[in-house]
Amino acid sequence: MAAGAFAGTITLDERFSSEAIGRHLRVLEDSSGRMNLQEVAATTQSSRWEDRHSENLNFGYSKSALWLHGELLNRVTQTEWLLGMRYPLLDFVDIYVVWPDGRIQHHASGDRRPFNTRDIDDRNFYFKLRLQPGERVQLFARIAGQGSLQAPLEISTPRAYAQQSRQEQLLLGIYSGALLAMLLYNLLLCISLRDKTYVHYVIYIGTFGMTQLTLSGLAFEHLWPRHPDWGNEAAPVFMGLTGWSLVLFSRQFLSLNQHWPRADFAMRMLQWLFLAAVPETYVLPYAVPIKIVTLATIVTPILLLIITVALLRKGVRQASYFLAAFTVLLLGVLLTALHMFGVVQRNFLTEYSMQIGSMLEFTLLSFALAHRVKLAREENERLQRAHAAELEARVLARTQELDQAMAELTKANERLHALTEQDALTGLKNRMFLTERMPEMWRQAQRWHTPISVLMIDVDHFKQVNDRHGHLAGDEALKQVAHVIAHTVQRPGDHAVRYGGEEFLVILPQTHTVGAAHIAETIRLGVQSLDFRWGDQQIPLTVSIGLASVVPTIDLPPQALFDAADRLLYRAKQEGRNRCALIPEALATLPRKAKPGSGDKPLKPGQPSPASSE
Ligand code: GH3
Ligand code: MG
Ligand code: MG
Repeated sequence: MAAGAFAGTITLDERFSSEAIGRHLRVLEDSSGRMNLQEVAATTQSSRWEDRHSENLNFGYSKSALWLHGELLNRVTQTEWLLGMRYPLLDFVDIYVVWPDGRIQHHASGDRRPFNTRDIDDRNFYFKLRLQPGERVQLFARIAGQGSLQAPLEISTPRAYAQQSRQEQLLLGIYSGALLAMLLYNLLLCISLRDKTYVHYVIYIGTFGMTQLTLSGLAFEHLWPRHPDWGNEAAPVFMGLTGWSLVLFSRQFLSLNQHWPRADFAMRMLQWLFLAAVPETYVLPYAVPIKIVTLATIVTPILLLIITVALLRKGVRQASYFLAAFTVLLLGVLLTALHMFGVVQRNFLTEYSMQIGSMLEFTLLSFALAHRVKLAREENERLQRAHAAELEARVLARTQELDQAMAELTKANERLHALTEQDALTGLKNRMFLTERMPEMWRQAQRWHTPISVLMIDVDHFKQVNDRHGHLAGDEALKQVAHVIAHTVQRPGDHAVRYGGEEFLVILPQTHTVGAAHIAETIRLGVQSLDFRWGDQQIPLTVSIGLASVVPTIDLPPQALFDAADRLLYRAKQEGRNRCALIPEALATLPRKAKPGSGDKPLKPGQPSPASSE
């Protein structure tokens, strides 16, 4: 049990407060894992021991047990010291202090042993050392386990330990509190927004937080101190769930299956790889799932970085904050790794790079989510505007179509109505027109005290035309007579009506007897001079006309005027046909210039027979 001459000596002097002692230690690998202190101590002279010259002794995954050896020399009066193994996931940690007189002190710890077996209640392993002034002791430490084997050993004064511990508790408290706040805040947002992405994000924060608690040893210390078995399974389980939810969240957030289906497929594989770690933990040795999830955890942020850069180049806007989030996380991971491999010195930033990186990541991701909601809202508003414009255009088009249809319908209706008031054969107005319009014309004449004249026109000996030449000839004759009438009666307000078979009626508002007689004459002459031919035969046509005028009074119905005209027509027939019969008294009461026979061409003597008074 003699002190090894080759062991590095760690001198504890006045200036010593807290220091990592890795560089002073020698390492022995016990591949059987069954060597005891006596066997190990016996080999201290042999070359099986090697110097690592590294502050952080990191051996990776190993089935061997690793022994560390060093010498402690206490140069001061201070007797209380603390030996710390600052890696809380070690399964088994055994510390042996060997005094020159052969006295041995053994501390057994590790996270496979219940928490209350620890010398000091701390997430890391701390052991009390009592060294008398000037005392020189041999220090052996044995670590073994299924996880990564690391031995960041340090020695502190109780005072330095307390100070460091207080600071660490504060920082971890801030970190855990921030994570918890983030979790609750996003949980509330998730409940209020009911967005699937938020669900995945909240699961991600929760499982990430649990992973951090587990890896830092805080979960074992505070949550399940009496369940070391579960405490060990918790790491791969939570890491697997974290990775799974992160990949799920990322795929959802970036709409990866839309933008890049192949990458989405790869990420989905990764997602299942993570999730598979959970059942694996219970069927395979701890080392297998922890290695798988660790590897996947390193690969995931790198893959995400590549994917987000690619998506940004494709113009996917929501990838921007996502990229920032994973850049800081990756920086944190990178710094931790560099620190672990001893490339960068241990300082505040390297010590807490993971926490800082993840905190920034969560902040940026929360922002990215809010930004995504904003983008979605903008898109929604844009769609709404486009939709409204389209709707408006469509309504306008419909309205125009409707207006046009209405106009056409109105026109058609007017045409239809005109048709109902029109005689099919001659194109003149029919009796329906007369019944509808006559009362109004009558009332107007009453109100304005203006005369209204009617001509009752009947074709002479029309039966003979029919009898001799047939009905078709008769119809054609009627059309020609109607043509003459229509052409003569052209003043607005005047109307030519087919009254019955071969009888026509001409209504002349605001026209006194002289004017009406003039028109009657024009019609009579017009018909008489018609050159109507049927086949090779010339058929002479004439009309007889009864003319009646009146200034309507309240008690006089329109029918009275028609009756009067009809009676005068009868007289014209009696008096030899092809003439116009009227009431001469009516002419006598007219202004002088309109007196009959005073030069009015149609009333030239000899043409119409002077009508006798009724
Ligand atoms: P008058 O000079 O006395 O009037 O002799 P008329 O032969 O014209 O006698 P009346 O007025 O009584 O005859 C009417 C005839 O007109 C009877 C009918 O054969 C014929 N008629 C009536 N409507 C139509 C028609 O729409 N087409 C044809 N072709 N003939 C018609
Ligand atoms: Mg007749
Ligand atoms: Mg007739």
